[in-house]
Amino acid sequence: MDYEAYTSPSTELAIDLANLDSSIPAAVDAFLAVHEEWLTPRTRLTLRPAEREGLAAVSAMLRAIARADDEQTVIDRLNALLAKSSPQPRVTNHDGRLHVHYSRDRADAVEQITTTVAVGITLLVTTHGWQRLGICSAGDCQDVYVDTSRNRTRRFCSGTCSSRSSVAAYRARQKSGHAG
Ligand SMILES: [Zn+2]
Ligand SMILES: [Zn+2]
Repeated sequence: MDYEAYTSPSTELAIDLANLDSSIPAAVDAFLAVHEEWLTPRTRLTLRPAEREGLAAVSAMLRAIARADDEQTVIDRLNALLAKSSPQPRVTNHDGRLHVHYSRDRADAVEQITTTVAVGITLLVTTHGWQRLGICSAGDCQDVYVDTSRNRTRRFCSGTCSSRSSVAAYRARQKSGHAG
């Protein structure tokens, strides 16, 4: 199945932020640099500690939306995130292609990112269903992913995590004498 059909650039930004290790300041700054396309020119990219905490809080909210296992919880958590956003959609062709930016163009980096991911995750959930958002079942991974399988049966963020986990399960079965 086509990953593209399930995600838009703003959704991908939301998944990336959900999976950001925001305890590492350099990783947060690198995240902004990588996704600079969402920020209006001359936006300050080096965050103050309180701003990093703000972005970490948004990352945690995204993970909480992916972790929710009933629709009402998803609605409540989405609305809490949307309440932190300040949308002012506008069309731009700054990179040569016509597309929408969602945030006020004079907002600081955290507000621009918060608004963009709030819209991105909301579009994903309302278009494709909240069950499409999952948390990787590999114990040492726990990344958020978008399940693009036909029957929404995916349990892992990637083929790598899936095969690592089946190897681990096989070894565990062998150890306990239940191989095969
Ligand atoms: Zn853009
Ligand atoms: Zn994984």
